[in-house]
Amino acid sequence: MNIADIFKKKTVFSFEVFPPKKESGVETIYKTLEELKDLNPDFISVTYGAGGVGVANATTIDLCSMIKNKYGVETIAHLSCLYNTKESIDEILNQLKENGIENILALRGDVNPDFEVKNDFKYASDLTEYIMSKNMGFNVSGACYPEVHQEAENMIADIQNLKKKVDAGADHLISQLFFDNNAFYDFIEKVRIAGINVPVEAGIMPVTNKKQIERMVSMCGASIPAKLSKLLQKFGDDHIAMRDAGISYAVDQIIDLVANGVNGVHIYTMNDPYVAKRISDSVANIIKK
Ligand code: FAD
Repeated sequence: MNIADIFKKKTVFSFEVFPPKKESGVETIYKTLEELKDLNPDFISVTYGAGGVGVANATTIDLCSMIKNKYGVETIAHLSCLYNTKESIDEILNQLKENGIENILALRGDVNPDFEVKNDFKYASDLTEYIMSKNMGFNVSGACYPEVHQEAENMIADIQNLKKKVDAGADHLISQLFFDNNAFYDFIEKVRIAGINVPVEAGIMPVTNKKQIERMVSMCGASIPAKLSKLLQKFGDDHIAMRDAGISYAVDQIIDLVANGVNGVHIYTMNDPYVAKRISDSVANIIKK
């Protein structure tokens, strides 16, 4: 099913997982998926590493296939292009097709000095255009940045570039994580003025670990509102208290987003089904399954 069609019927509720690192046991991700599927998400997306589909011990395609074909849950395969050639993308598209996976989150990918950049694609819009030109029946989603992509000149330039991605064929957007809903509302207003009319899902990362969030924020530049900063100061060194406070903060964010008419909410689960379940249960009457 085309993910964009789900938004015509309801407020979408979805999850993101990542393939386990080489050294981690593969069983944990199977257990995670088993528990996440019981929460009835509209879809589960699976991230893609800069090193390609072969780096993990369960690849993006393996996991998407399991989500779709074993659990009957819709899925999106993330796919980045900086380190892929047209030939390697063709190979991946064929594998996705063979596994019945219809939805792709087309990304540029982050710059990683450990890998050699191939020069077939420069931006996510190039990959989007390429996938659409193949006419293989894929639906393409894209990423967007409520607090501006870190390499962009400014918000206007970033939104003009986002429009190119949508014009190339992306019919659904998922946002970078943010903690300040007002930043998201300002962004949505600008995006709509720019003539981008596809559904935009809000990316929500539950803050359950102070160190992890400091690393994320330094990578993506999300601002920390005073309310969250107080929670981090007070509970940051107490894992269980921080987890509960972070879940509660994420639930508050989601309720406010739904009250303000958000198209959908995408939870960055960090492969933690316990946190996903607590959030899912708390918003069960706010976002109908
Ligand atoms: P683009 O849309 O190509 O934008 C990158 C930069 O180039 C922006 O500054 C933009 O303004 C500019 N730009 C875009 N088009 C043009 C143009 N035509 N001319 C000039 N400038 C342009 N990374 C992974 O490696 N794997 C993942 O699985 C993954 N999943 C993600 C999921 C989500 C929801 C998000 C928000 C990010 C994800 N990322 C992932 C991170 C992403 O790869 C990085 O943020 C990356 O730096 C940008 O990717 P993009 O697809 O948004 O790039």
